[in-house]
Amino acid sequence: MGTGRFGAQQNQNGAWRSLKVDSMKKTVKVFKFGGASLKDPDAIKNVASILERFRKEKLIIVVSAMGKTTNALEKVVGAHNEGNSDTARRLLADIKSAHYSIMDALFEPGDEAYALVNDTFVESEWVLDEPPHENYDFMYDQIVCVGELVASRIVTAYLNRRGLPTQWLDARDIILTDDIYREGWVQWEETEERFARKVPAMLDAPGFILTQGFIGTTNENFTTTLGREGSDYTAAIFSYLSEADSMTIWKDVPGVLTADPRIFDNVAKLDRLSYKEAIEMTYYGAKVIHPKTIKPLQNKSIPLYVKSFVDPDGAGTVISNDVEDPYPPMVAVEQNQALMQISTRDFSFVAEHHISQLFNLIADQRLQVNMMQNSAISFSVCVNDIDDKVLRFIAQIEKDFKVILDRDLQLITVRHYTEGVLQNLIGGKIVMMEERSRGTVQVVVKDVPVISWKNVS
Ligand code: ADP
Ligand code: ASP
Ligand code: MG
Repeated sequence: MGTGRFGAQQNQNGAWRSLKVDSMKKTVKVFKFGGASLKDPDAIKNVASILERFRKEKLIIVVSAMGKTTNALEKVVGAHNEGNSDTARRLLADIKSAHYSIMDALFEPGDEAYALVNDTFVESEWVLDEPPHENYDFMYDQIVCVGELVASRIVTAYLNRRGLPTQWLDARDIILTDDIYREGWVQWEETEERFARKVPAMLDAPGFILTQGFIGTTNENFTTTLGREGSDYTAAIFSYLSEADSMTIWKDVPGVLTADPRIFDNVAKLDRLSYKEAIEMTYYGAKVIHPKTIKPLQNKSIPLYVKSFVDPDGAGTVISNDVEDPYPPMVAVEQNQALMQISTRDFSFVAEHHISQLFNLIADQRLQVNMMQNSAISFSVCVNDIDDKVLRFIAQIEKDFKVILDRDLQLITVRHYTEGVLQNLIGGKIVMMEERSRGTVQVVVKDVPVISWKNVS
């Protein structure tokens, strides 16, 4: 009995019969390569070597911008917004030449990839020819998207030159979002329709499909982004849409660790993690995976592997359903927290009279709420302090509420904590707010100011 594409089987009489739809769909794997894995020519060659091993598989590959390109593009947006268009143009030219030097190490002179990359940059250059747009977030997305677009062009061209046939897919042809720029929310139904119209035919052609993380489009065809570090999420969207066998994100760490190795020394790798555990840890700042990544995978029971691009043979971590293992203490630290203590000016009870109004405004600003507590006349909320969102929120409520604002705080979340681990973490810090629930403790802390003896006496 022979097996054809999509699992059709031939019986002894030579007649073909289709297998269950499910087995047909379970043929795609989704891989995501982030900035660190694409930071220079050697890194890109290493990615190609990893992909060589999967030559026979049907892969959808999602790439983000190379290295720290997105940070550099943010500076372009900032300069343009302040009216320094010469600086903006110079910064963009630097980014362009950094990409060209990577290409010089990967391609023959005159390769058609150069023209494609040049054309892609032109779109952002046009934005700089216009005066700064009044909607900063809109302008940001139109410029910053170029990082993913050029990375995907370069990697696709390189894989094809290496004998790995790869089709380039514009993620904006598939992922439809609302028009909240820089934090677009996926419109799932339309996205599923767009995927069904375009991608199955591409999957039928030989080779891989490669697309961009982080970007989507509005109904009016303007580019949106899904939030910083959003390429993991894009890979999860494509995994969901293609009902993938599995998704793998290739990182510079051996897997998910008990804490960020950039901050802590004695960390250990977790072999297995449940979706729930992964959602909790990433939501509260474990930066190894974008928090929105897990849910689409959980909804279709697609396992997520976190593996090392430095050691592709390592087992990594698998995130899936119902992991029973007891977990060790796990720590996530989120920087740039703002704590607002909001109290009514007229002594009305905050929970009874105002809570829905406050929550609506929090949702309008897309503030991520990490912790909250309320008393009779006040409501304290700890949020990620991004740009001027907090100030915009306060400006909206100031008339009715008094707000005490503390910024530059840290949120420390410890799951499966022990008192010893907790005391080690918060020693020498001022605890501004604390919450304990079963097995989890969260504290919002501020560093103790260093007081010199001269000032004390
Ligand atoms: P990408 O290249 O895909 O953008 P990131 O740099 O966003 O990758 O994510 C990998 C980084 O996440 C690691 O280098 C590590 O410092 C950090 N990190 C934070 N928390 C954890 C954790 N619990 N386990 C592993 N890595 C973590
Ligand atoms: N390039 C984007 C960023 O740096 C998206 C990502 O890397 O996931 O935020
Ligand atoms: Mg990242």
